[in-house]
Amino acid sequence: MDDCIFCRIVKGELPASKIHEDEHTLAFLNIVAAHPGHALVIVKEHVENLYGLSDAQSAAVFQATTRVARAVKAATGCDGVTLFQANEVAGGQTVFHFHIHVLPRFKEDNLLPFWKASAPGRAELDEMAARLREVL
Ligand code: AMP
Ligand code: ZN
Repeated sequence: MDDCIFCRIVKGELPASKIHEDEHTLAFLNIVAAHPGHALVIVKEHVENLYGLSDAQSAAVFQATTRVARAVKAATGCDGVTLFQANEVAGGQTVFHFHIHVLPRFKEDNLLPFWKASAPGRAELDEMAARLREVL
């Protein structure tokens, strides 16, 4: 993917402030950060989103994210860490190469307002769970 920003970072064609690298993953700082230490963990191979990850990539990227989250917590002294991962335009994705945001959080930073939620009844929950099991 010649025009993919993250592929170009993996190839070394674009600069990145790198944090961690292994066989399947690369982690670096977001150039537009919610807080200092806002990191991105990507798979090295061009995979557009979550649906396309292999089991090996999936395992590796979460392992790397765990390490990066511990480092972000230790280095920034943040009060908490939120992971954010978007898929497709409707999911809020803007760079179409799989990545996980590691966001340092501070008490009352009001970064992520919670979504409006409803509490469906057990019957509705069970029906949805059955539909999901069917496609798994
Ligand atoms: P998303 O909206 O979840 O797809 O996140 C994409 C993120 O990539 C945004 O937060 C951007 O700030 C970040 N980003 C875009 N270009 C670069 C770059 N060259 N280096 C680091 N982060 C980038
Ligand atoms: Zn890419």
